[in-house]
Amino acid sequence: MPVYEYVCTTCSHKFDKIQPMGATQAECPHCEQPARKAISLFTATATSEDGLPMPVTGIGGGGCCGGGCGCGV
Ligand SMILES: [Zn+2]
Repeated sequence: MPVYEYVCTTCSHKFDKIQPMGATQAECPHCEQPARKAISLFTATATSEDGLPMPVTGIGGGGCCGGGCGCGV
């Protein structure tokens, strides 16, 4: 299951929580108030929200040369 990073809206405590895909809510272990999702570590690494691998070609398009070499950018 993916690991989600949350930030408590009340005390700003940050914590990671392993939750089922698509989960958006978690409770702060510090003050037990609702926390909002900061980033999904799982999604940030290699997958989309559907849990499918994201095409590498879609990331940083044109990054090979910054458009300076005329490679198709
Ligand atoms: Zn808190």
